[in-house]
Amino acid sequence: MPAFMDVRTALLQGQKILEDAGLSSPRFTAELLLMHAAGQDRAWLYAHATDQLKEVWWIHYGRYLHQRTQGKPTQYITGHQEFYGREFRVTPDVLIPRPETEHLIDAALSKTKPGDRVLDVGTGSGILAVTLALELQARQQKTPETKASKIVACDISLPTLRIAQENASHLGANVPFIECDLSTAFASASFDVVVSNPPYVPLRDRTGLQKEVRDFEPAQALFAGEDGNDVYRRLIPEAARVLKPGGWLVMELGDAEAVRAMLTDWDRVEAVNDLAGVPRVISAQKTSTIV
Ligand code: GLN
Repeated sequence: MPAFMDVRTALLQGQKILEDAGLSSPRFTAELLLMHAAGQDRAWLYAHATDQLKEVWWIHYGRYLHQRTQGKPTQYITGHQEFYGREFRVTPDVLIPRPETEHLIDAALSKTKPGDRVLDVGTGSGILAVTLALELQARQQKTPETKASKIVACDISLPTLRIAQENASHLGANVPFIECDLSTAFASASFDVVVSNPPYVPLRDRTGLQKEVRDFEPAQALFAGEDGNDVYRRLIPEAARVLKPGGWLVMELGDAEAVRAMLTDWDRVEAVNDLAGVPRVISAQKTSTIV
């Protein structure tokens, strides 16, 4: 350890290390890693620019910088990611929440009525179930005469459900979590809305993915067969089974054309683009003729 290392110099050095490794947002990332190492917020970094780093901070900071240069995503180092205005805990057991998934929340909120039962299939870190539970609870508190909605979430991975449960408890969302494949644990016609951000990356795209995604995020949460659509082939009929007639399916997707082709029996199929102009969320209503 250098005899003297102040906060400002540590940030400059960290920035340089990240820049030399060809990483994007080197300054911002250096700040996040030093904040995490020192257990402080950004305001503190600036207010204490000339303070000496404690040795233990320097050791942690150095380790985090090294991990980041090896490709580990910043969120797996700091253990959290913001989604829809709330901080969620993330570990390598769960996918890192993406900003485009916020479109799924808006679409699901627009389809959900007071008193509805909502299921989140493949909840991962729990972002969809927890956010919907909290947003619907806030909406209901503004109109107390309406009935409360009920959110349930499931996932095939137990370690993942532990993270989701932790996020729900920490953020004060009342969500039961069930371990099962897709929605197989639930009775037919038991939900008004089914939401899902399933794995949809084609296996054939694997080698072209960013190292951060390919080598660090859980493959089970990303890939779904050669064309990326294997999970939709099972999820859509399963959702049709657990939805009531007139119920809504709201999903994130990568290949809108292929998924649309699987929804020809459904009503009011509508895709929403993300900020990059790519169709990212699709909603569809179960007709009374689908069984
Ligand atoms: N959008 C993510 C990505 O591009 C994939 C998320 C998913 O498969 N559900 O990496």
